[in-house]
Order: sequence, then C-alpha cells, then structure tokens
Amino acid sequence: MLIEIDRLPQEGLKVSKKYEFISVELLEEDAEFLNPVHTDVFIKKSGDEIFLKGVIKTCISLTCCRCLCSFDFKIDSGFDLVYLPEELDINNEQLDEEEAKKLFYYGRKMDLKRIIMEQLNFAFPVRPLCSPDCQGICPVCGNIVKEGKCSCVANKTDPRLDKFKIFSRDKR
Ligand SMILES: [Zn+2]
Ligand SMILES: [Zn+2]
Repeated sequence: MLIEIDRLPQEGLKVSKKYEFISVELLEEDAEFLNPVHTDVFIKKSGDEIFLKGVIKTCISLTCCRCLCSFDFKIDSGFDLVYLPEELDINNEQLDEEEAKKLFYYGRKMDLKRIIMEQLNFAFPVRPLCSPDCQGICPVCGNIVKEGKCSCVANKTDPRLDKFKIFSRDKR
C-alpha cells in the first residue's frame, strides 16, 4: 500500500490491514510464515515529518540454532518510527550513529508494505531458540536431547552420574 504524503489527512490515517508475504522475503534462513501478517498502523504528518506507530502480529516457523528443530515463533511487536523528507538525506560520510539511524521517504510516497517487512525482520531473535534452555544436540551420540533418544550420562540426571561425582571427589 502506497501512502501519498500530500494526501494524508490532517488528523492522521489509521490503516488496519492483513498482508500475505512470501516467506523468501524473510531474512532469516528457513523462516516460514504460518499466518498472514496483521497490522494496525497510525500515520500522522507533522510538517514534513511522518510519524508511524503500529503493531505487527503473526506467527512464523523458525529453526532453533541449537537443536535445529523448527518451532513456532509468535510475533506481536510494536514500532514507533519517524520518517524525514528526502531533502534532509544529505550524503554525509561523517554521520554519527544517531544520524545514521534516521529514516527517509522519497518521492512524497511511502510503501507501507515494505516498512512492515523491514520491521518484521527486526523482530527476529539473533539466535532463535525453541526454548531458552534448549539442550541442543548431544555431542556424544548426536541425538536431539529433548527428543529423549539420548541416554548419555552427561545429559541426564543419572544415578551413575552421582556415583561418578562421588568417585571424582574421592580422588581429590
Ligand atoms: Zn532447540
Ligand atoms: Zn547423547
């Protein structure tokens, strides 16, 4: 959906929309949409600055970086952005960090769908985990620990392990 800056009503514009994106647009490898993307966005113009505030909701299948199993990742994230007109996008190599983070719109238009996609990609965890304490793949037998196929001593509270602990204590 293209937002035409000069046609934005003074009181702002509320857009509630459902998007169907294709999964390859996601930066995260192996990520797949399980649901359409629901968004509520409020767009308001103040002078030449455009304020965008909204929420994105969807569910995506991600791959756990420890056990390599896919899991459902719910996204319910908000964003609050300010876009400046292109005239202010001066090509200055010495931009400080604050300056470099600024967003601009071009041709008096904004592509809402693209902005939603960018925000979606920001919502991903850097290291996706199926659960915070995922034990991953056992280095001894190569099985996924949570699937229960691994019976290695190191991954279980095994009575044998206790004996081993006592043994090593005795040795000291
Ligand atoms: Zn995992
Ligand atoms: Zn194992």
